[in-house]
Amino acid sequence: MLTPALHAVVQRLQNAARQSGRPAPTLLAVGKRQPAAAIAALAAAGQHAFGENYVQEAVAKQAELASDPRAAGLEWHLIGHLQSNKATLAAQAFDWVQTVDRAKLVPLLAAARPADRPPLNVLLQVNIDDETSKHGCAPGDVAALADAVASQPRLRLRGLMAIPAPLPDMDRRRDAFRRMKALFDAQAARFASIDTLSMGMSEDFELAIAEGATMVRVGTALFGERPARG
Ligand SMILES: *Cc1c(COP(=O)(O)O)cnc(C)c1O
Repeated sequence: MLTPALHAVVQRLQNAARQSGRPAPTLLAVGKRQPAAAIAALAAAGQHAFGENYVQEAVAKQAELASDPRAAGLEWHLIGHLQSNKATLAAQAFDWVQTVDRAKLVPLLAAARPADRPPLNVLLQVNIDDETSKHGCAPGDVAALADAVASQPRLRLRGLMAIPAPLPDMDRRRDAFRRMKALFDAQAARFASIDTLSMGMSEDFELAIAEGATMVRVGTALFGERPARG
């Protein structure tokens, strides 16, 4: 049974896809600062992919959920900034890292990916509105970073991710999504493994879908407001 919030988000997502004539994107449920129990409840309702912002928080939740049959076989995505000293743990704890934004991370992740696991799925985080956010590579650096990831057998280059500035002007957000789609298409033409464009959150995922997102990252609309930090 879908929870009411999951049902509502899936409806919105399918409507947006239908209206723009695109396939429905993958829904990534963003569980940052939500308790493990909330993730288990959503997993029981059929949600498969979960995003976390902090490596340690994800590892703690995975440990809590380890004996919970509702959470068996979930797919974990890192969507928060990755510090180099957390790369080893990230390569072990996640199925996807969406925030690779500098060459230094590439050999660290590749070396740490356990041999008994499939290659780590990687998205390159792009700083598409460069004046406002501090993480992500410059659009002009995407091709070289893509080459670096693609050269590593223990990594699988799947595409691009962005967190455009949360501008009140929706036309400007749309423009950022459009520029991401153009970057994505250029890299997808170079690498057959590329199939994922991760963009759009609770407030604007319909717009992102209209511009070609294949994965949307949704927290608040699924879980409600996040508990305060600490
Ligand atoms: C928190 C977060 C989201 C989800 O944001 P909501 O507005 O709660 O849907 C998506 N992506 C990233 C990178 C986030 O940090």
